[in-house]
Amino acid sequence: LKLQGKTLPWVGIDIGGTLSKVAYFEYYENGDNIKYLGNNHTAVQDFIKSTHQYGSDGERDARLELKDVQLGSRKGNLHFIRFPTSRMDAFFELAEEMRAKELLQKKVYATGGGAYKFDNNFKEVLDLQLVKCDELHCLIQGIHFIDANFIGECYYLKFSNDSAEPEKVTYDFQSACPYPFIVVNVGSGVSILAVRSSSEFERITGSALGGGTFVGLSCLLTGCDTFEEALELAAKGDNKTVDKLVKDIYGGDYTRFGLPGDVVASSFGSMILQEKRDNVRKEDLACATLMMITNNIGSIARMCAINEGIDRVIFAGNFLRKNNLSMSMLARAMDFWSKGTMKAIFLEHEGYCGAVGALLESLS
Ligand code: ADP
Repeated sequence: LKLQGKTLPWVGIDIGGTLSKVAYFEYYENGDNIKYLGNNHTAVQDFIKSTHQYGSDGERDARLELKDVQLGSRKGNLHFIRFPTSRMDAFFELAEEMRAKELLQKKVYATGGGAYKFDNNFKEVLDLQLVKCDELHCLIQGIHFIDANFIGECYYLKFSNDSAEPEKVTYDFQSACPYPFIVVNVGSGVSILAVRSSSEFERITGSALGGGTFVGLSCLLTGCDTFEEALELAAKGDNKTVDKLVKDIYGGDYTRFGLPGDVVASSFGSMILQEKRDNVRKEDLACATLMMITNNIGSIARMCAINEGIDRVIFAGNFLRKNNLSMSMLARAMDFWSKGTMKAIFLEHEGYCGAVGALLESLS
């Protein structure tokens, strides 16, 4: 199966600690690929496009589909699918059911830790060789490709006053000189990279307090069961009953160092008192958890940006999926603590950059 003398690319997979992400390229039919792909490919394509939901846990983000994109010498549509990595067994069952083993393609480009962990399963169940690609390299390549192919991919939040919903403003990353920038990838854990050119980047640091910590702690503290439920609770909550604020300690602002009274001095600091624990609502606990994780990520990101002398920080990863609260917190915190010199930039395809990067690797 060849394209320009290379294996035909149609799928890139990013198998993460929590979610597996798939970028599937549906290229336009022509005489050539009908000959190459035959009915199996058409069956897979029809199946993928027939629904948004695969089994109980797999989802296609149709809203994010990239239409009419050029990949190598082909044009087509790029689809985005995700499912929990914990359901990898169901994925293998489905693949067996669809007789995916008989597909002509024998190699798939994959990234993320699961490309190593599940290597044998892919070989045994699907007779598929996973070509492993570095996840951080894929992440950066994916960001560039999606940004070049999706209008409004990068954006920042503009606040007119304290109470209003922020406005989403497109950030033209291509026209502004794209380098250098910091990438903060918030998945199950956090990785922070400094990107200096298309081929030069380094992982500066990371944090184990990431999206997985938010979901895990929220489930323990509130009895909820999913990321979405935890976010819903957090949106209805108020952290002030859980955290100890500067004003709880000072009675107001700590003016000498410009710390407003409403700033959190100690996450969960009010929970040392039995009477406060007795009256706390689960919504408030979820909200305090979200704030603690988000603010911690924001301050590490800001310190990295200062150390590296870089003023643009791109936030990626599925922790920010549908997570307007954290995006607002990060944008406000970056702006406030940097006195307006740093910008937090967000992505529409926040969780899919690695999978797209893996797909692109199959072309190189
Ligand atoms: P990883 O590659 O480590 O799996 P992701 O970038 O996919 O990382 O992000 C995983 C994080 O995204 C989770 O820890 C959680 O905070 C958040 N998340 C968003 N949507 C979901 C979901 N449907 N199920 C589980 N976690 C989700």
